[in-house]
Amino acid sequence: METLRLGSRGAQVEELQQILLTLGYYEGKIDGIYGHQTQGAVMKFQKQFGLVPDGIVGPKTYEMLQPFLLGYTTHIIGQGDTLYKIAKQYHTTVAKIVTANPGLNPFMLSIGTQIIVPYSMEVVPMTISYTYEILERNILGLKKRYPFLKVDTIGKSIEGKNLYRIQLGAGPKHVSYNGSHHANEWITSPLLMKWIERIAEAYSQQGAIRGYNIENLWNQATIDIIPMVNPDGVNLVINGVSPANPYYQQLIQQNNGRTDFSNWKANIVGVDLNRNYPAAWEEYKQLEKELGITGPGPELYGGPAPESEPETKAMADYTRTHPFLLVLAYHTQGEVIFWQFKDFRPPQSLEIAKQFSKVSGYEIAEPALYQSYAGYKDWFIQDFIKPGYTIEAGRGVNPLPIIQLPQMYDQNEELLILAAILPNN
Ligand SMILES: [Zn+2]
Repeated sequence: METLRLGSRGAQVEELQQILLTLGYYEGKIDGIYGHQTQGAVMKFQKQFGLVPDGIVGPKTYEMLQPFLLGYTTHIIGQGDTLYKIAKQYHTTVAKIVTANPGLNPFMLSIGTQIIVPYSMEVVPMTISYTYEILERNILGLKKRYPFLKVDTIGKSIEGKNLYRIQLGAGPKHVSYNGSHHANEWITSPLLMKWIERIAEAYSQQGAIRGYNIENLWNQATIDIIPMVNPDGVNLVINGVSPANPYYQQLIQQNNGRTDFSNWKANIVGVDLNRNYPAAWEEYKQLEKELGITGPGPELYGGPAPESEPETKAMADYTRTHPFLLVLAYHTQGEVIFWQFKDFRPPQSLEIAKQFSKVSGYEIAEPALYQSYAGYKDWFIQDFIKPGYTIEAGRGVNPLPIIQLPQMYDQNEELLILAAILPNN
């Protein structure tokens, strides 16, 4: 972690402001600008936690913030401890502690045992730029709270970041959802992460969401989620690129000299990952020229060959080795649902699209010409003849403002449940 102080800017400052706000130390805006109000909040926090109140977030302050960023702390059981007492001490609930510690017998606590204590607040923030680092921290935090979640990786990005998979459920209907193929559509990552959190929470409490019993969902379906297919690109859009990055020169050049990468959809070497799958890829290369794309850049460059990129190769290999009944690829352009590829009409595909449309309010649409080649869902439909969808969430210019996330979540919560229930075995 970088040291943060007066004058610092960026996603880490947003994260700091967000957590200080949640904890009640900060009352300002989440704007990513470390001003006097942020400094004052840091000093209050530091005083409260016995640190030197210098208003600078260095290693010691980070260490104290870390449990809150993760959403849990650890507690060593002492003489006279009960779960009720511990829950009260940390302002949380007994139910949360029980969920996070599956082997623990609440009536026979043994002194000296370390347990996980989740805080009452939710883990996945909905108000800040969602970098790869925040994703990673949230995955760790959710896994500790909900140990029944399965977490692994399906590969790595060019810069060596993990392509995480989170798995929910244990039923026979295996489906897969992904987000952030496109870098400046990163809002789809916290969308999927928030859904994981809400489903896991409901499952742990034998609860329901929108009338769906989540334990039933769990027994019917196995849901794989790849929340961030293009982590290098996401961080590029959010953080920009440092001159120390080996791709610095190349990226600036590909971005026509600009240091603002908010228009960037591609991966770190300028390949549009959603034009890099083997679905009419050669045809697309013809069209690419007509679109004026001559090489790597912010968007629409399909790469030197299908699956040339480690991110698409990982996605394709992973998809080939799991017999998914349905896939969803999340993007952000205009609140529409794409369900077709060429003349392929997988059974159930349109019926399910209609259900999605009903619960989300998104329209079923015909893709524009440049949208109808070499995408993940195109390839999935072509190779497996099963329902595959691109869900274009949100409206406006990418990257969509994070303020759209709560509404976007509302529109997609039921759709994400239906996608696991509707496909036939
Ligand atoms: Zn997209």
